[in-house]
Amino acid sequence: MMTVFSAYSDEDILAYLKSQVMDGTVATDEETLRKQSFNPNATGGETGLARAFVSVASVADIQGVLRTARKFHIAVIPQTTFSSTVIGSDGLTGAIILSTRKMNKILEISKEDSVAVVQPGVVNGDLDQEARKQGLFYAPDPGSKPFSSIGGNVSTNAGGMSTVRYGATKDNVLGLKAVLADGRTVSLGGRTLKQAFGYDLTQLFVGSEGTLGIIYEVTVKLMPIPLGQSVMGVAFFDDMLVLAQGVTAIRMSGVYPTMLEALDGNTVVALDKYEHTHYADHSGAMLIFRLEGGSPENVQVVRQLLDQYHGQNVTVTTDETEQEKLEQLRRDMLPAVFAGRNHLMEDMAMPLSKLAPMMDYLQELGQKLGITIYTAGHAGDGNVHPTFVWDKDVDEVPPVIIEALRQTFWKTLELGGTISGEHAVGMLKNQWNNPELGETVDQLQHQIKTLFDPMNLLNPKRKID
Ligand SMILES: Cc1cc2nc3c(=O)[nH]c(=O)nc-3n(C[C@H](O)[C@H](O)[C@H](O)COP(=O)(O)OP(=O)(O)OC[C@H]3O[C@@H](n4cnc5c(N)ncnc54)[C@H](O)[C@@H]3O)c2cc1C
Repeated sequence: MMTVFSAYSDEDILAYLKSQVMDGTVATDEETLRKQSFNPNATGGETGLARAFVSVASVADIQGVLRTARKFHIAVIPQTTFSSTVIGSDGLTGAIILSTRKMNKILEISKEDSVAVVQPGVVNGDLDQEARKQGLFYAPDPGSKPFSSIGGNVSTNAGGMSTVRYGATKDNVLGLKAVLADGRTVSLGGRTLKQAFGYDLTQLFVGSEGTLGIIYEVTVKLMPIPLGQSVMGVAFFDDMLVLAQGVTAIRMSGVYPTMLEALDGNTVVALDKYEHTHYADHSGAMLIFRLEGGSPENVQVVRQLLDQYHGQNVTVTTDETEQEKLEQLRRDMLPAVFAGRNHLMEDMAMPLSKLAPMMDYLQELGQKLGITIYTAGHAGDGNVHPTFVWDKDVDEVPPVIIEALRQTFWKTLELGGTISGEHAVGMLKNQWNNPELGETVDQLQHQIKTLFDPMNLLNPKRKID
């Protein structure tokens, strides 16, 4: 073991940290540190036990943590609800986890401006519910909507089921406030629906994964609830290839669906086991769709297209409870597939014309490598989530899974897609910066990071390292 001659003892560092956090709390007990350092949503990257978990309650607390980090050269891991699937907010050995989870107030909902101003710890679903009380809604709806935060959603540029209609988080953020690594605060963007002044630093922060600053306030766009009835339905297809073709046709029809979710045969079988249902009896792939404010004519168009693309057992419902059940079914797909096993859920986004070829490729790849790949995704916007699973008792990612990921990612790039549609990069995909971004952009990204965080304190080893 290497001997380290530190200028300061652990006690010195913690005493200083505690003196800098006046409004929030500093936890150093092993149980909290373990719980907040290691996240079961992903495996395979570098994680380690943090030295402190700071739940900040004010801008001054954030500045205090960063002051400590600068003084002792300690990494800071921004974290909110800790649902990252890419090892984006797990601990690193000796780091300080800075949690904005408790900064969770909705500061304003303005009907006149159609905006909400929130602290980062506000849960996505809670904001949506509050907005709905005023006839508005918050559109981005990741599968983690019931528990993930706006701060985390902004920092990962989260997507979701309704991205096909309303765009991802980036399309719904108007402004934000952040504390930079050197302690300065910045206010970026604002509450106007258009803005063409200066470099767009608001968007630079969206998806920055905690590497450029700590976000402490966000202004998001709210949408008026569409008039008319919401309609949901399911349809079954022989395989994902035909399903993907049907999805493309529906998307191009002009009916503007707000959900087009695809589940392949393996996923449907897993879901049946989990839910005690019998969907797999119908056929090989399942589509769940929604039209908001869907007129009978629009529903008819969708039905015709499903027919044309050999959709079977099509059912449509306007009943609210039935719709909630369908939505829940889609959300249950993840626990059904994970089933207590180690897993890696991937997240490619394809040009729409390449969705079907990608689905086809994944099917072939599973057969070639002799593994079961569970593919689902927000098919309407080209986002594919293949999940790779292996035994819970095997800690190391098996070589065949690493090979499957490698081949999947190269194929994605070859087809003009991106290997991160909405879950971000974290530690799982940062080795792919060069192939995905190219030499020059890869370098520019490092230069941007250095400009904002020259001491590399904020979420090191994630996103661009
Ligand atoms: C069951 C399940 C389903 C999911 N479904 C989807 C989905 O459909 N679509 C999707 O996009 N994602 C999905 N996710 C992934 C995850 O929920 C999202 O990435 C989410 O945006 C993370 O939010 P969080 O608050 O948990 O962030 P955390 O995990 O706490 O952090 C995520 C990243 O943001 C940074 N960060 C957090 N807070 C701040 C802050 N205040 N300032 C600066 N940086 C910060 C962290 O450093 C980290 O890099 C799913 C996850 C699970 C477990």
